[in-house]
Amino acid sequence: MISLRRWRHCYRLRRERISNSMWNELAAGAPLIAQYAGADRTKLRRLTERFMLKKDIRGVGGLEMTDPMRLLIAASSCVPILHLDLDWYLGWVSVLVYPAGFVVHHEFMDEAGVMHDLVQPLSGESWLRGPVILSWEDVAHDAIGASGRNLVIHELAHKLDALNGVVNGMPPLHRGMDRAAWTAAFADAFNDLQGRVLEGRLLPIDGYGAEAPGEFFAVASEALFVKPVALYHAYPEVYRQMCRFYRQDPADWVRSRPAG
Ligand SMILES: [Zn+2]
Repeated sequence: MISLRRWRHCYRLRRERISNSMWNELAAGAPLIAQYAGADRTKLRRLTERFMLKKDIRGVGGLEMTDPMRLLIAASSCVPILHLDLDWYLGWVSVLVYPAGFVVHHEFMDEAGVMHDLVQPLSGESWLRGPVILSWEDVAHDAIGASGRNLVIHELAHKLDALNGVVNGMPPLHRGMDRAAWTAAFADAFNDLQGRVLEGRLLPIDGYGAEAPGEFFAVASEALFVKPVALYHAYPEVYRQMCRFYRQDPADWVRSRPAG
């Protein structure tokens, strides 16, 4: 006899199976997903199914979520952890998706002890232990691949960064990785990006990365997966450190793609 709990589990597993046609449709509209082939493609699809089982991706603010929308968000979320695993997303469950950019209120006390209520328009937010919050308008725009950005990867990179308790641009590194080498690579690149923003020079990655080391890591994570060659040329040491952390080398796939 099958227990009720087990039956529910099996039912959900069946329900979250991604059909070939759904996956192909997803890949056709999202270069980020389409770049995975062979064993990586199968692995990403299985991981996405598990992500959809474990996480609650939900429309808020009047947004109606469809299956293709949930699938795009789930699959994009799994790109950074393809060679890490779902355990790296422990400690939170919800992904809240607004129709477009949203406004958040942050209360903070200044040095004189005066409370301020900061109202900030955002396209995404990721709390230390809370939900990931996304704007569907930005997710859909980034999926096409022309923006050179990816909001989902940005917010999920913050989640990885936060795993050691603070969002500071350094996620928990794997055994054998050198914290000093990581810090040196990221500090140099962060200073370079800040200088470029201040001087109005050409920016190799999104200038938002100059806001704080945590933002630099999130922006560089976006670049690693959506414009890896540009990141490699701009900040090769950062690129190398991130390949070791994510255990992926996306610029190598671009280089080995047949020309034409
Ligand atoms: Zn951010």
